[in-house]
Amino acid sequence: MKKDKALVVFSGGQDSTTCLFWAIKEFAEVEAVTFDYNQRHKTEIECAKEITKELGIKHHILDMSLLNQLAPNALTRTDIEVKDGEDGELPSTFVPGRNLLFMSFAGVLGSQVHAKHIVTGVCETDFSGYPDCRDVFIKSLNVTLNLSLDQNFVIHTPLMWLNKAETWKLADELGAFDFVKERTLTCYNGIIADGCGVCPACKLRKNGLDEFLKGAV
Ligand code: ZN
Repeated sequence: MKKDKALVVFSGGQDSTTCLFWAIKEFAEVEAVTFDYNQRHKTEIECAKEITKELGIKHHILDMSLLNQLAPNALTRTDIEVKDGEDGELPSTFVPGRNLLFMSFAGVLGSQVHAKHIVTGVCETDFSGYPDCRDVFIKSLNVTLNLSLDQNFVIHTPLMWLNKAETWKLADELGAFDFVKERTLTCYNGIIADGCGVCPACKLRKNGLDEFLKGAV
């Protein structure tokens, strides 16, 4: 029998929506939290709102606009171009400390709503090399959150070792393939579902989808 409550860190994208379906399957009760940090595209927040509404999930939206003040980047500023990292550099979409801050706030909210489990779609296989998406960081943060808040949280990262094709496969196994494909927003240009097709996020999503559809995973 399913038990416990989980809080899902939720952006309305492919990864976190897959995690949301995963959490619904695993836990008795699920709530979601979305961080508003002046994303280029408010569509992202709207998309997250619609998905949680449709799935009947209680949705918290927290204002994290200070993140933009601390670390202007290509996701929040239209005058910074979205581009891949070159020569081992991080891409221009990297926001220093974003996941550290998001997970810390998720922990505080989680303790308020009495969620024992926190679920996040971070992924070490994501090729971008964001330091606060690494498994070792999540494990370290789990200890820190438990010590700082006197909780026994368990942080779950169902996508940590999956590539994009395997993430599509997981969505399919959860019976959510069409939902994830049609309803989520991954595109840096704010276009839902298959997106603009040219930005780095769209390319990554499409390559994974093609690979999954070919039966390569
Ligand atoms: Zn795109």
